[in-house]
Amino acid sequence: MKTAVFSTRRYDQSLLRAANADAGHELLFLQDRLTAASAPLAAGCPAVCVFVNDEVDAEVLAILAAQGTRLVATRSTGYNHVDTAAAARLGIEVVRVTDYSPHSVAEFAVGLLLAVNRKIARASVRTRDGNFELDGLMGFDLHGKTVGVIGTGKIGAIFARIMLGFGCRVVGHDVHPNPAFEAMGGRYLAVDELLACSDVVSLHCPLFEATRHIVNAASLARAKRGCILVNTSRGALVDTEAAIGALKSGQLGGLAIDVYEQESSLFFQDLSSTVIADDVIQRLVSFPNVIVTGHQAFFTEEAIGQIMRTTIDSIGAFEAGRELVNRVPAA
Ligand code: NAD
Repeated sequence: MKTAVFSTRRYDQSLLRAANADAGHELLFLQDRLTAASAPLAAGCPAVCVFVNDEVDAEVLAILAAQGTRLVATRSTGYNHVDTAAAARLGIEVVRVTDYSPHSVAEFAVGLLLAVNRKIARASVRTRDGNFELDGLMGFDLHGKTVGVIGTGKIGAIFARIMLGFGCRVVGHDVHPNPAFEAMGGRYLAVDELLACSDVVSLHCPLFEATRHIVNAASLARAKRGCILVNTSRGALVDTEAAIGALKSGQLGGLAIDVYEQESSLFFQDLSSTVIADDVIQRLVSFPNVIVTGHQAFFTEEAIGQIMRTTIDSIGAFEAGRELVNRVPAA
């Protein structure tokens, strides 16, 4: 089936081609992000494949529907960038990748935590410059500390298990408690209780209206002073301006983020020769106790290979009229 694949980079193209070798779909690779302006590039494509920063809102979906698109396949678990209600109204099916290595993201969250706590990135920059001084590089033992996990689904539960292996006490908050989390030794708390007692808070819940800015000025004020916040889930879970205020006052002891609320105009591109107009991200990266990565937590061979295979399978299932096992229900 002819499929317009937006926001593709070299690795997307080679891995999707490999996954598509037997299926033989006609893939039209586009580097552009999907927006109302770029949507006409998908004219005549019954399927459109997107990524996390594509704009799949009502306006774009209406253009796609008018051009004959009937399937949107997102190469991600999260689908907050797709207006699923508008898609349903327009008769467009939406599929995602429900299951791919959750270890990829959980392990990256642990890496970010270690990097910000033990100042690993700072130290590496220093030694390249011949500076082997330890001043400013002190962290704290994770062993014996309390780690709060908000969202204890597939990724959050694996993150929790790894932290238990470090000898941490793990507490969680979730609207749908996961029995596996409790069985491994995690204890559920209300979100405020979790914030009050956690030395580290890691976010692993999806972005919904109910979770937008779940970390905000009020919740940060209730957090344990000096705690480290890790966000590998979605940028808008955190009110970034509030986090900056908490970093300035010392209420937040460190921040490690792989996602950022305004990332769509920045991430997945090389802007190193450009003047970046976003003052918030520039302020964030100026803190010595902040680490920012560009939405790469999923980026392992295992995870991305599975993402591409599932995406091709979903396109094949749609074409053959088979059940869409990774269908996103309308909101
Ligand atoms: P999942 O569905 O298995 O788990 C999400 C958990 O969050 C569920 O247990 C759910 O009940 C819980 N939840 C929902 N609303 C909540 C709320 N209001 N408060 C607390 N918990 C709530 O999903 P997953 O596979 O573990 O993925 C989690 C998120 O990670 C995704 O939604 C996505 O945003 C993010 N993610 C990021 C990357 C990356 O590369 N940075 C990659 C994959 C996924």
